[in-house]
Amino acid sequence: MIDHIGIAVKSLDSAVKIWEAILGIKANVISEVKSQAVKVAFFGTKNGKIELLEPTKNDSTIRKFLDKKGEGVHHIAIKTKNLDSLIDKLRKDDQKIAEPFVGAEGARVTFIHPKYSNGVLVELVETK
Ligand code: ZN
Repeated sequence: MIDHIGIAVKSLDSAVKIWEAILGIKANVISEVKSQAVKVAFFGTKNGKIELLEPTKNDSTIRKFLDKKGEGVHHIAIKTKNLDSLIDKLRKDDQKIAEPFVGAEGARVTFIHPKYSNGVLVELVETK
């Protein structure tokens, strides 16, 4: 059910070293998501992944998060088989959901505003 936990970091290079030491595995995907102005690294643990996010621009939402709160857990990502039907269902309950886009690993994703999910930013990831 949990796809990954997203952590906002100031420097991907130094954070990757720290999390490689903690998890005992190498980061397996390092890429840039231009639409979100972030560089990301993923660690594929058996029970869900860890995603590290470094902002690449000053107007990146991750930059704003770091300025406001500092480094730390930014979002929790939940897997769903049918993103569109889940979005329809949640919108019926008045939840504010952004239109889906293609995320870091090529899957369709969207976010639930923390206002509607107990202060936690939730990412929904469509898995085939
Ligand atoms: Zn994520």
